[in-house]
Amino acid sequence: MQTVSTVGAGIGGIATAIRLARKGYRVKVFEQQPNAGGKLNELRLSGFRFDAGPSLFTLPQLVDELIAGANTSAFNYQKLELITRYFFPDGTVLDAWAEPERFAEEVAQKFNDKHTDVLRYLKESRELYELTANTFVYSPFPQLKNFFTLQSLKLAMNPKKLKAFETMHEVNCKYFSDHRTIQLFDRYATYNGSNPYLAPGTLTMIPHLEHNIGAYFPTAGMYAITTELVKIAQNLGVEFEYNAHVDKVDIRNGRVVGIKVNGSSAESNYVVNNTDIFTAYQTLLHEVPLASRLAAQQPSSSALIFYFGVKGIHPKLDVHNILFTSDYYSEFKAMEQGSIFNDPTVYIFITSKRIAADAPDRHENWFVMINVPPNTGQDWDELRLKAREAILVKIKRMLGIDLASLIVAEDYLDPVRIEKRTGSFRGSLYGISSNNRMAAFNRHPNRSKNVKGLYFVGGSVHPGGGIPLCLASAKIVDSYFKPL
Ligand SMILES: Cc1cc2nc3c(=O)[nH]c(=O)nc-3n(C[C@H](O)[C@H](O)[C@H](O)COP(=O)(O)OP(=O)(O)OC[C@H]3O[C@@H](n4cnc5c(N)ncnc54)[C@H](O)[C@@H]3O)c2cc1C
Repeated sequence: MQTVSTVGAGIGGIATAIRLARKGYRVKVFEQQPNAGGKLNELRLSGFRFDAGPSLFTLPQLVDELIAGANTSAFNYQKLELITRYFFPDGTVLDAWAEPERFAEEVAQKFNDKHTDVLRYLKESRELYELTANTFVYSPFPQLKNFFTLQSLKLAMNPKKLKAFETMHEVNCKYFSDHRTIQLFDRYATYNGSNPYLAPGTLTMIPHLEHNIGAYFPTAGMYAITTELVKIAQNLGVEFEYNAHVDKVDIRNGRVVGIKVNGSSAESNYVVNNTDIFTAYQTLLHEVPLASRLAAQQPSSSALIFYFGVKGIHPKLDVHNILFTSDYYSEFKAMEQGSIFNDPTVYIFITSKRIAADAPDRHENWFVMINVPPNTGQDWDELRLKAREAILVKIKRMLGIDLASLIVAEDYLDPVRIEKRTGSFRGSLYGISSNNRMAAFNRHPNRSKNVKGLYFVGGSVHPGGGIPLCLASAKIVDSYFKPL
């Protein structure tokens, strides 16, 4: 029997385990934490349940593919009618409806942009996605031989359509005149931890995922994606070993022969690495030269999250809410300089709006997040306390809610904790940043060039971070394995 050791039970590791077990491989997943999920995890605190990391679920068909064929599955999700409620500093509240016509109408009513402009933008966002997704997301692109495909040639013949030579912000300014509409669409850069003033306009394909395909909400919360997939993997015979820290990938004569875990050897024919690629080269693969293009990359942004158990029901807020800053440029500038802007954009995610059991009666579970730079040794205790104060002031000013007096339970996640818990280099959320137009070409491939039998999956390698792309990376790894 051919055996596979998977290092890490993040979403990418679990998805690969399911796919390879279905092909007849014997798969064992080694996870350093006491449970699976990595960044896609949950927190339970004084009667509240929080989804600890990801909150937005797009391209659910990539999860459906993994569930398909499983005899029983309790996993369910609903399409969100209202994706995000935006609060602007001038007092405007805008509901970003999923349905493009309704969304465009809302923008036209509240902002000085035409509803046809929004529809044209979303149409071109769809075209951009359709032009690029096969090459950049679903193929093992970083290999040269894959570049000479019909799809890639189509891309090469359409450089203008790619919008790679303008920033996202510049592209958005061409479509819209109202700074609020521009800010709303600039925000999509943060979906992969980037800066809209630096990231290429190609990323204006991201709104297509939400408005043309849809944003979804798992009926039992985001963490149900992890628990459901682990169940499916186990039913296929995948073994999970928790509290199992992998120290090293064992290599003999240029091919993997297994791993060292908690000081002991575990032999296997293949190794799938689901840990962060920077960390993997530093700790698991010391003998393998770090790919030079990887060494030159900057990590994507990180996050500071407060998990607040809150007294009362707050009808102004929906499940996903954004409280914008009045100076988006300075917010990103501060992050580029390793700091946090004094009036950051605040994201509030409340699952108890839909899952009553996530909070005690007459309470809500507020996941309150701001984007922050990766950890380069800043004083995070000081930054966290300052940011907490700024957030409370902002919520009072923009929502009229005195949150400080309503908090009954509290915890937090910062870049240091993200790095410690998941091994993510500098606590970045999405691997390397997309703040330059070459980023898509520079991500580490899913198969090792130097070591036979070694594969890479997850948010820090091709095609990138976020649940859908991690699931896409698992598909690419799967494509290298023959059915047994
Ligand atoms: C706060 C936050 C918000 C986010 N929001 C969204 C969102 O809304 N939508 C979205 O799609 N994505 C979002 N993301 C990104 C998404 O969570 C990640 O891209 C994805 O979950 C990463 O999965 P992965 O497969 O790379 O593994 P990871 O989640 O990085 O897990 C890697 C696993 O490997 C384990 N590990 C590391 N080293 C070792 C070792 N030596 N031995 C054994 N095990 C090891 C770790 O413990 C961990 O469990 C968010 C992330 C965060 C943190």
